[in-house]
Amino acid sequence: MQNNWQEKLQEDFSFMKQNPVEEEKNLYRHYGFECSGGWYDILHDCCKKITERYEEAGVSIDFVPAQIKEKFGTLRFYYGYEDTPCGIAAMDFIGSGISIRFDPDGDSGETESLEARNKGRLRGDIAKIVRTAEERSKTTCEWCGDNKTASLRTNLGGWIGTLCDSCASKYIEKRNQRRKELEAKIRK
Ligand SMILES: [Zn+2]
Repeated sequence: MQNNWQEKLQEDFSFMKQNPVEEEKNLYRHYGFECSGGWYDILHDCCKKITERYEEAGVSIDFVPAQIKEKFGTLRFYYGYEDTPCGIAAMDFIGSGISIRFDPDGDSGETESLEARNKGRLRGDIAKIVRTAEERSKTTCEWCGDNKTASLRTNLGGWIGTLCDSCASKYIEKRNQRRKELEAKIRK
């Protein structure tokens, strides 16, 4: 995993540029990635495929990341387009583990122009690319990127995360250590 993975993604893909100033309303641009670097490869592949798909279509990139975060242990990559901003085009229902998602596709209708059809197709493909990335996060350790033993862990004591065997043990070890320290403090 890259140490400077967040910078690298911004360098390689101009549409991923962040803007951490108070006035910035876009959650991604303001806060950056709300997940750990084990998912760097997933995010890099996703942005690369998006770039290639625009190149294939021969149009300039109007994809706008809206929020990129870990939720319920997996990657959520919310996005919109310059002409259809995301706003946060997603509603997460806490507890249910289900989120309703709207893919901001292009206009549809029988009288649509070739240009509109191509745009719809492009955006449909981008939705697939993003969904593939989110799927990959289900079997990729969020901390180290391992994809052999990584799985969704519900036994971490509160936090639900996708971690590999080794990172999960480290997490539990640290948690137990903290608990012991806390107990020792209380006993004093
Ligand atoms: Zn790991």
